Amino acid sequence: MSELVPLPALRDNYIWTYCDDQGRCLVVDPGQAQPVRDYLERSGHRLTAILATHHHPDHVGGIPELVRDYEVPVYGPARESIPGNARALGDGETLQLDAPALSFRVLHIPGHTLGHIALYTEDADPPLLFCGDTLFAAGCGKLFEGTAEQMLNSLDRLADLKPETRVCCGHEYTLNNLRFALAVTPDDDGVQQRYNQVEKLREDNQVTLPSTLAEERRTNPFLRVDDETVRAALRERAHGDDRSALFGALRQWKDQF
Ligand code: ZN
Ligand code: FE
Repeated sequence: MSELVPLPALRDNYIWTYCDDQGRCLVVDPGQAQPVRDYLERSGHRLTAILATHHHPDHVGGIPELVRDYEVPVYGPARESIPGNARALGDGETLQLDAPALSFRVLHIPGHTLGHIALYTEDADPPLLFCGDTLFAAGCGKLFEGTAEQMLNSLDRLADLKPETRVCCGHEYTLNNLRFALAVTPDDDGVQQRYNQVEKLREDNQVTLPSTLAEERRTNPFLRVDDETVRAALRERAHGDDRSALFGALRQWKDQF
C-alpha cells in the first residue's frame, strides 16, 4: 500500500510525503528537516527525492540538511533558486521518478511567486496534485510576485485537472478560508456544510487535507469567479466586469478580511 502523509511543520505548514509499498518516499516542500527525519525514523521508510514548488523559506528551509543527511536529488521550479542543487523543472515537462514510480506533469503556475510550479500525477489513484501556495483548500495564495490575471490563469489550469484529484497544498488555512468563503456566499449550503466539517476537524486538531478538486470547484470562491452568486458579491468591489478584475477584487477582499 502506498501512503500519503502530510507532516505538520513550522506554524501551519505541511510537508507532504508519498511512499510506495516498499517504503520509498518523496517529500514535497520540506520547510524543516526535523519532521521529515522523525517521520523516516518512525516509519522505517527511505527518502529518495525532494520536490519543491517555490522558493519561500517555509517550503525549502529544510532542504540543505536533508540533502546532506540523505544524499537525494532535489527538483524545483526552473525560474527560481532552490537549495540543494535542484534540477530545473519547466512548464509541460515530465518528471519521471523510479521509486516511488511516478511520472509527474510540471505546471508553471505563477501568481504567488513568479516561478511557482505544481506537480501532478495520474500514476497514483486517485491522482495527486502538489500545488504549494497557489491553490489552498477553499482559498488561494497571496499575490506576492504575480498579478491577479496570472493567478487566475494558474488556478484555471489546476481546476481543469481530474475532479477526483487529491489537492495537497502547503498550509492549514482551510477553516479561515471557509470563513471568508461564507462571507462571499453566505447562502451556499455546500460552503456551510464544508465549514461545519472543517470546524469539527480543527477542534480535534485534525488535518483538513487533502481535499479534492471537485470539492474546490464547488466551494472555493477563487475557483468560482464565473459563478453568478460570487460575481454578484464582487460587483460593487471590482473595477470592471471581466474575470481578472473580479478575481483581483476577490483577492483584495480576502487580504483585508
Ligand atoms: Zn509561499
Ligand atoms: Fe508557504
